[in-house]
Amino acid sequence: MNKSYDVIITGARCSGSTLAIYLAKAGFEVLLADRATFPSDTLSTNTFFNNTVALLREIGVMDSLVETHVTPVETIKFQFEDTVIEGPIPKVYGEDTAYCIRRTYLDHILLKQAKKHKNITVIEGFRVTDLIYDGERVTGMKGEDGAKRQQEYRASLVVGADGRNSKIRRLVNSELKLSSPSAVTIYFGYFSGISHDSVPKFEVYKRDDKMAILFPTNDDLYVVTVNFPLEDKKLIDKFKNDPENSIRQFLRDYFPNTTIGNRIKHSTLIEPIKGLIGYDNYWYQGMGNGWALVGDAICFKDPAMAQGIHDAIRGARILADILIKNNGQINEWEKIAEDYQKSMEAEFMVRFYMGCELSKNEKITEQQDAIHKIISTHPSVIEKFFGIYNYANEPADFEEELNRIIQSISS
Ligand SMILES: Cc1cc2nc3c(=O)[nH]c(=O)nc-3n(C[C@H](O)[C@H](O)[C@H](O)COP(=O)(O)OP(=O)(O)OC[C@H]3O[C@@H](n4cnc5c(N)ncnc54)[C@H](O)[C@@H]3O)c2cc1C
Repeated sequence: MNKSYDVIITGARCSGSTLAIYLAKAGFEVLLADRATFPSDTLSTNTFFNNTVALLREIGVMDSLVETHVTPVETIKFQFEDTVIEGPIPKVYGEDTAYCIRRTYLDHILLKQAKKHKNITVIEGFRVTDLIYDGERVTGMKGEDGAKRQQEYRASLVVGADGRNSKIRRLVNSELKLSSPSAVTIYFGYFSGISHDSVPKFEVYKRDDKMAILFPTNDDLYVVTVNFPLEDKKLIDKFKNDPENSIRQFLRDYFPNTTIGNRIKHSTLIEPIKGLIGYDNYWYQGMGNGWALVGDAICFKDPAMAQGIHDAIRGARILADILIKNNGQINEWEKIAEDYQKSMEAEFMVRFYMGCELSKNEKITEQQDAIHKIISTHPSVIEKFFGIYNYANEPADFEEELNRIIQSISS
């Protein structure tokens, strides 16, 4: 019979490793299992803001992360039709630099940090297949190791940090609380030989119902993402048949009013283009009798928001704090579950709804265009606009500043 743990965590990337680290620091015995072996890539465009840098610094991995030959980013550029909104990333928690760090580095470095704790047992190449119950309470998990041997492990709590298609979520039949489908198709690829737009920036371009997103990442590469309507089956077929030429033509044809065309001319695609044809923004019940969910397993929002990595890490911290506060005693799980759900909603719900709106992929209206023009010429509004993305301020603060400027213009 295998040893029993305080907490079993399925999934060892941003949410799983973070949760394990904080629980281990508080003295919990943790089993951290992932079907992948690391370093390992995952479907992500890897970008996070400086509020996440602060979290990663606290975990103790930021120094290792900046050693991965990654380009620091201090500027954001949005271009909506012809209006450019550009400026510095607002400082938050003493940090002013954001990054796009490939998950082969980020997740591996987080996992290595977890492995330093003697009360974290890590099993890679282990696929969780089922749960163990005592009555209605989850008391462990079953799975298959790399040698195809069936194994069972027991714990007071089993956490699903196992991503968008969470196995744990399906096994416990967690209630779907909110769901909003996306009208978007995403394709992205890694390119070498793309020059910066004067300085390294997070660049987001929207024209009509199409988007192009450029992030400088590790090893002098750019991750280039394009978004277009899910209903455009002809374009999807084109991308499926010839992804590289389709992405290049897309950038040239739909964004002639930008620097992108010239900058990609001499670029080289360094690995196959990846895609995601449609997805849901969703929010699930986060905790039940003997189980909990964290990261994408509980909530997913439009990737163009670049909030997923932050929410996985911050959400893991919230769950860890709640478990530590309750000393791992989850007998009164209903009370703890309510606390967890409320805390997660308070932290992430506003931006979840922003993601749902973004996913509708609506064209820019004349009124929005006029507002973009006002934002673009007022640094104080630009700061509050960007501040939504790194939690330097709330959307309401941006609206207040925008209204103040509009009133000052009209008076
Ligand atoms: C196309 C795309 C682009 C994105 N771009 C960004 C971005 O630029 N910035 C950003 O912040 N977010 C982005 N995201 C979101 C971000 O990738 C996720 O929010 C983040 O990865 C969630 O982390 P996680 O730890 O919860 O889950 P994941 O990173 O999905 O990790 C889950 C882990 O669970 C393991 N697992 C699953 N099932 C089992 C099982 N049965 N047994 C054992 N292990 C299992 C998997 O192997 C995996 O390692 C993007 C998402 C997509 C789809």
